[in-house]
Amino acid sequence: AEEVGGGDKEVVRNYFNNSGFQRWKKIYGETDDVNKVQLDIRLGHSKTVENVMKMLTEDGSLKGVTVCDAGCGTGCLAIPLAKEGAVVSASDISAAMVAEAEKQAKEQLTVGNGDIVPVLPNFEVKDLESLEGKYDTVVCLDVLIHYPQSKADGMIAHLASLAENRLILSFAPKTIYYDVLKRIGELFPGPSKATRAYLHAEADVERALNKVGWKIKKRGLITTQFYFARLVEAVPA
Ligand code: SAM
Repeated sequence: AEEVGGGDKEVVRNYFNNSGFQRWKKIYGETDDVNKVQLDIRLGHSKTVENVMKMLTEDGSLKGVTVCDAGCGTGCLAIPLAKEGAVVSASDISAAMVAEAEKQAKEQLTVGNGDIVPVLPNFEVKDLESLEGKYDTVVCLDVLIHYPQSKADGMIAHLASLAENRLILSFAPKTIYYDVLKRIGELFPGPSKATRAYLHAEADVERALNKVGWKIKKRGLITTQFYFARLVEAVPA
């Protein structure tokens, strides 16, 4: 089952509507019913979100800027973007994730008298292959892990086609060290590893971007003990 769009995609959708939803909602949340590994991943992921917010805001105000958050999960990025005044379109393949993101956005973006400040993101259940339209900025965080490199090129090309000015991607980097860790993990699969994880070499991601006329402008690397993410911001070349 190497296919995203075939078997793999159904597995991913099913996982993120069920056990994966429970697991990741906890990791991305604030409650203290997490173990040490989950807490570490929560910290790493929140650093990724912080870095993205920094990348985006150092280019200028986000007020009125259209942003597509592809594979939005529970809204960890969509909500801070909306707080900065961005016009956010957030979508995910998992209906459970989208419902949770919408609930959290309403809680966090609503002020005392019930007004929503400034603009609630527009949430949709959609896989990213069916996303359409044009956005100033497209962001896709920690989703590439569900795509083998053979499918990643097409996914990157599609996301770039939706973006006018910026595309931000984060992915688990395929370094020798991490490759070894992953292989050890495959030898001793834990019960929570319900989906396959694909790592990506930065050079492969860069090649996919270059092929469709984009170039990398900024790079970041976020690592904690159990969380590794390469972050790239690409712009039209
Ligand atoms: N981007 C969010 C964040 O950083 O907080 C969530 C990251 S979570 C590890 C991966 C998310 O990607 C899940 O919510 C999953 O449902 C979604 N996903 C996986 N494959 C997808 C696809 N083909 N289209 C849209 N979303 C997808």
